[in-house]
Amino acid sequence: MADLADHIAGVPLIDQHMHGCWLSAGRRRRFENGLNEANTEPLAEFDSGFDSQLGFAVRAHCAPLLELPKHAGADEYWQRRRQFTETELARIFLRAAGVSDWLVDTGYAEDVADVAQLAEWSAGRAHEVVRLEQVAEQAAQTSDDYASAFEEILHRRAATAVGTKSILAYRGGFDGDLTEPSAAEVAEAAARWRDRGGVRIDDRVLLRFGLYQGLRVGKPLQFHVGFGDRDCDLHNANPLYLLDFLRSSGGTPIVLLHCYPYEREAGYLAQAFNNVYLDGGLSINHLGARAPAFIARLLELAPFRKIVYSSDGFGPAELHYLGARLWRNGIHRVLSRFVADGDCSEADAIRVVDLVAHINAARIYRLDPAEIKDAGRRV
Ligand SMILES: [Zn+2]
Repeated sequence: MADLADHIAGVPLIDQHMHGCWLSAGRRRRFENGLNEANTEPLAEFDSGFDSQLGFAVRAHCAPLLELPKHAGADEYWQRRRQFTETELARIFLRAAGVSDWLVDTGYAEDVADVAQLAEWSAGRAHEVVRLEQVAEQAAQTSDDYASAFEEILHRRAATAVGTKSILAYRGGFDGDLTEPSAAEVAEAAARWRDRGGVRIDDRVLLRFGLYQGLRVGKPLQFHVGFGDRDCDLHNANPLYLLDFLRSSGGTPIVLLHCYPYEREAGYLAQAFNNVYLDGGLSINHLGARAPAFIARLLELAPFRKIVYSSDGFGPAELHYLGARLWRNGIHRVLSRFVADGDCSEADAIRVVDLVAHINAARIYRLDPAEIKDAGRRV
């Protein structure tokens, strides 16, 4: 199955959900905390981010890019890493990922690279994804009618963006009413929220309003689902709570991000709704050597034309590379097994790789496939 292996090694990817990498040097503790997603506190004194699946993956797969032996020790890795600036690291790791297009969530962007920097450092293309809750916070700061201000800001920002994103999972979760509120309800909720300062939106009425405005833009709407930091109530980020919303969502593509540990629920939804997609980014990095089992679960119920790739890299540039590297390793492990067992042909497996790597994302985000192929030749 040399053709499948070669194809996976060189296939260009669309990284359809990620954030900027760090701009300035930091201490080892920052780096080790950067390898832990769920904990919002500094890691305990006894702990190390290197002693985790992700830490092992950094030493196994990132060390050689810094001219260290595979599995270099944690101290050795850190000493080598600090000889580079974050910009130099970004150039090394972003270019090695084999990504043609980066879809950047700009909703939380403190001390990380912006869309233009990511394009330059990766020698690829980068596009913005607009966070709806950030638009709400911008609208609250204007003196205009809230609903009109929201629509105006969203349409202006979305004109040059490829999609929108919601972090409803972090602002009360999915369980509960997700119908569209009336204009009067929106006006009343906005007045209440502005009186409280209009920062960090958590008003359910306004969050619901934002979702329907996002749907009307018509570009893919991404949802944070499942795994994230502990500010999000994980049990309330189960995508099955979105069923009623999905039933009324029309044709706008809805992309469920991360999904772990609800990848099976997300796979069911991707089969049940023409406009629902799923993505295992973030989870693949944190599962490391166990990522192939997760990738196999993504390939259970979800139709193959409904699965997309992302790294969800944020902070250390290693994460933007590792997402791609672990996905290539994992999908190879899974698909070569299907071929060996006679469940599909090698040509079928190669087609599935292309669908998940870039064809599905190029279709929903309307990216030019010719330029994506060019990026593949550079890998
Ligand atoms: Zn993210």
